[in-house]
Amino acid sequence: MDRISWNQYFMAQSQLLALRSTCTRLMVGATIVRDKRIIAGGYNGSVSGSVHCVDEGCYVIDGHCVRTVHAEANALLQCAKFGVPTENADIYVTHFPCLQCCKQLIQSGIKTVFYAEDYKNHSYAIQLFEEAGVKTEQVKLDYLALDMNFKEKSTFVQELLEIVESKNVGEDELIDIKEKAHELFNV
Ligand SMILES: [Zn+2]
Ligand SMILES: [Zn+2]
Repeated sequence: MDRISWNQYFMAQSQLLALRSTCTRLMVGATIVRDKRIIAGGYNGSVSGSVHCVDEGCYVIDGHCVRTVHAEANALLQCAKFGVPTENADIYVTHFPCLQCCKQLIQSGIKTVFYAEDYKNHSYAIQLFEEAGVKTEQVKLDYLALDMNFKEKSTFVQELLEIVESKNVGEDELIDIKEKAHELFNV
């Protein structure tokens, strides 16, 4: 059995957290890790107890939704709230941090920023990370690695396709089924 890598494991946690986001403009998740242990997590959402963008719509000023605390900031603030040191920790974020989060991550002593997707990567944020000696590294989430039965599933679908093909199925229908199988199971 192939074990999931640490990078994939932590990025998958962030992806899961992103699904809890309350602002639909961009769903972001962040996981703070120290010595291969998750110490905090966050997603972009409203201040505790306040209304959510998903219910009331975004509160947009100058093209930005001002209602939410960003995922990275929420994760750092969780550490502040419970007194957990962030010095020399790493963060896994679904999107490249914005300028504000970049500054907060540097000040919190974060050493490496792993991000899955590029997102308006600000040149000043890149410069600040470099100056502070904070490493940034892209880690794309490998969904195939997360599905332990993927190979088995695609072999099974391939076998089903052969059975379907041997039956009296209309040509157009068969093409549709094959396309769908290719799209979903890469067979
Ligand atoms: Zn919003
Ligand atoms: Zn941010």
